[in-house]
Amino acid sequence: MIQAVTFDVTHTLIRCPRLGEIYSEVLGRHGVEVAPPEARRLIGEVWRELACSADPSCDRFSAHPEGPRGWWQRFLERFCERLEAPPPTRFAAAELFYRFASGDAWEVYPEVPAVLDALRDRGLRLGVISNWDTRLPEVLRQLDLARRFDAVVYSSAVGVEKPDSRIFRRALRELGVESRAALHIGDSRLEDVEGAIAAGMRALLLVRGNRDPVSGRASVGSPLGETDTSRGSVGSPLGEADTSLRSPARAAGTKGLQDLSPLPALVASRRRSRGAGSS
Ligand SMILES: [Mg+2]
Repeated sequence: MIQAVTFDVTHTLIRCPRLGEIYSEVLGRHGVEVAPPEARRLIGEVWRELACSADPSCDRFSAHPEGPRGWWQRFLERFCERLEAPPPTRFAAAELFYRFASGDAWEVYPEVPAVLDALRDRGLRLGVISNWDTRLPEVLRQLDLARRFDAVVYSSAVGVEKPDSRIFRRALRELGVESRAALHIGDSRLEDVEGAIAAGMRALLLVRGNRDPVSGRASVGSPLGETDTSRGSVGSPLGEADTSLRSPARAAGTKGLQDLSPLPALVASRRRSRGAGSS
């Protein structure tokens, strides 16, 4: 029986609709001209580029000698190199860091609060498992999401990123549930679905707005949000909260939910059927 549900954050609970605009605005004040669409495109490219060179055994933010701020400073340096602009000042990097530390930069998907409340009303324990840095708890608090979770687990605090099983196990410990009694939901096949399954959990793929989830670490799960530039051809949702979803091969065939609205009913039906089966 499912006793806990855990969620990815970016593109699952929240998104960053003004990502390109915020980069354009802040950098413009620091002498770097970039149009919002170009900024958005480059953010995605630089994210993927740096992800490829990251050590998969550790969290990229805490692994940087200067922590998350140092990692994002490096990110911005590479962004400006790609733009053939002068190197950014530390002030520009710091300002961007603070902008995305605020709930104002983010938007909660409309169905999320009601879905979380419905799950809580059914007695489920709820958690976040995210590849984010130290800013996440405050962002979730400002968006009125933090109080809805029993555990908020993020990579820079744990020292490893999804899909590493250790970050899932940390969340399970904090929630006090066995892996087989927990369901994880996220928008990345690699980080969320395959990672959760490898940790012994059940998993469900979320595919919002036909975004292509076949991108793994590189193009989704970015703490910056909308780094995705691909528009996949993913079809209709299957809504599989299926306990048989335990192998990556099976997971790869999953189409996923298009939003979180069906989740309370899916979990409830799973609980009923499991309860009936065991009686
Ligand atoms: Mg995500």
